[in-house]
Amino acid sequence: MNTKQRILIIGGVAGGASCAARTRRQSESAEIIIFDRGSFVSFANCGLPYYVGDVITDEKKLLVANTELFKHRFNIEVRLEHEVLEIDRDAREISVKDLNSGQVYRERYDALVLAPGASPLRPPLPGIDLPGIFALRTIPDSRRIREWIVERQVKQAVIVGGGFIGLEMAENLVKRGIAVTLLEMLPQVMPPLDPEMVTPVHDRLTAHGVQLRLGDGVTGFEQTSEGTLVVSTKSGEKHPADLVILGIGVRPETKLAKDAGLDIGDRGGIRVNEQMRTNDEHIWAVGDAVEVRDWVTGEWMLIPLAGPANRQGRVAADAICGRDTRFRGVQGTTVCGVFGLIVAATGASEKTLKRVGMAYEKVYLHPGHHVGYYPGAKPIDMKLLFSPQEGRILGAQAVGEEGVEKRMDVIAMALQNRATVFDLEEAELCYAPQFGAAKDPVNLAGMVAVNVLRGDAPIIHWDKLAEDETLLLDVREIGEFEAGHVEGALNIPLTQLRDRVHELPKDQKIAVYCQVGQRAYYATRALRLQGFDAHNLTGGFKTYKAVQ
Ligand code: FAD
Repeated sequence: MNTKQRILIIGGVAGGASCAARTRRQSESAEIIIFDRGSFVSFANCGLPYYVGDVITDEKKLLVANTELFKHRFNIEVRLEHEVLEIDRDAREISVKDLNSGQVYRERYDALVLAPGASPLRPPLPGIDLPGIFALRTIPDSRRIREWIVERQVKQAVIVGGGFIGLEMAENLVKRGIAVTLLEMLPQVMPPLDPEMVTPVHDRLTAHGVQLRLGDGVTGFEQTSEGTLVVSTKSGEKHPADLVILGIGVRPETKLAKDAGLDIGDRGGIRVNEQMRTNDEHIWAVGDAVEVRDWVTGEWMLIPLAGPANRQGRVAADAICGRDTRFRGVQGTTVCGVFGLIVAATGASEKTLKRVGMAYEKVYLHPGHHVGYYPGAKPIDMKLLFSPQEGRILGAQAVGEEGVEKRMDVIAMALQNRATVFDLEEAELCYAPQFGAAKDPVNLAGMVAVNVLRGDAPIIHWDKLAEDETLLLDVREIGEFEAGHVEGALNIPLTQLRDRVHELPKDQKIAVYCQVGQRAYYATRALRLQGFDAHNLTGGFKTYKAVQ
């Protein structure tokens, strides 16, 4: 690009900063100015919970870049504490307020990029503005929370919302010795996952002393005569708190776009095309403020995550500079660490697939994160969703203590490339005893799924068991069976199965289970080869306990 363009960017964090830097890499001549009403450019908002928790102790570590770096490394001007008030599309100008001097001035643009992000939801509940109730978005927010904890000697906190910010805050407040109550309106935490997958997360929170209240929404806040807070819920409970953190989601910042008459979608975000261009050919929008196409369902969605915001910033920069780069859409690949558990997902959940009416099949498995003979193997609970005809990967979820995000990342890449479970079966992945297995959990997930599609080992799901006249066969060892089993199950350990096969009926469906599904798979194959109508209960007794 040779002509000197004026490119103005509103918002200087994930989407805006990456758009600015990428634009410079595409054009040496463009004049690029970032405006941000905050005091920091390109800071690590994802690190804020860990700053509150004193894991990150030096605030400067949160600053990925600063105005000098932008100036000297990229020749990009950053105007902090400058709020953009209005877009005049006809004149191709914005009006900006210098928040220090109060002065309002106008700037002309050839291309304008909106990257204003999303603001935390603050529902209009009684008492919502009382002191001690915080949301977390900026460095000043985290400073205020830190100061409040010290000044008020906070001993108990209520966190409203069990998404990833709520969970990260729970862990970090507990680390600071604060007793935490976590309130979540849904019957589960981490809504991108399906409920049965987060049972271990609920257990882990409780094991670390978090008072977990699921299926209970907040109705209001009151201040006591000592200046502390009481949080009331729909169920009638009252939770005392010295500190309340709101983590109930975000709303895209669309005021500028709306006032300027730009298209806003049904989900409330700015509408853009695959090049992040709005309905005005001189205006682009990226990040949490925009609606994105869900890669699996094709629906317009709001998926506020840092990775997509950064990629969208690059796409907009390319488009402004004349390249035909396209944004593929978002599949919601996400990970969260909580008290030593890693919770990760990519693509559609079963809840979503049901809601949109997409056909799917699912398998559960519980492989070790590396081979069992090498010390320290930790199980990963995995769920894989795929289309029942061609086996296209639709989504995956995993929970465990090690190696979880690696598996989800591999599946995320496969999913983005429209791969199938047959591709997972064939994937060639890293292996040495301390890192994985010759059949990696990703391969195993593919193998279990293709066994279903090829009819080698048909499955039944625990929640469907009651629908059939099925004989329930537990092939675990007697000790395991006696320690806990499903009511009415017949126990024939796998090691005795071939000798006792005459005890089983050939004219009845048999649902075989073991602890995690592997021995039941061997039993299912052996029985099917002998003419029995055997099916593997996917995920075994471990999944059964999670779905109860
Ligand atoms: P932001 O990063 O929010 O930046 C928008 C900027 O625009 C702000 O600085 C704002 O001041 C400025 N602005 C808005 N309006 C104006 C205006 N009119 N004039 C001037 N400036 C304006 N995502 C992950 O993927 N993984 C994580 O682990 C993760 N953790 C998170 C933890 C926390 C506590 C938070 C708050 C978010 C986290 N996210 C995480 C989400 C991620 O940070 C966002 O998706 C990402 O920052 C969005 O980028 P953005 O550029 O769209 O908006």
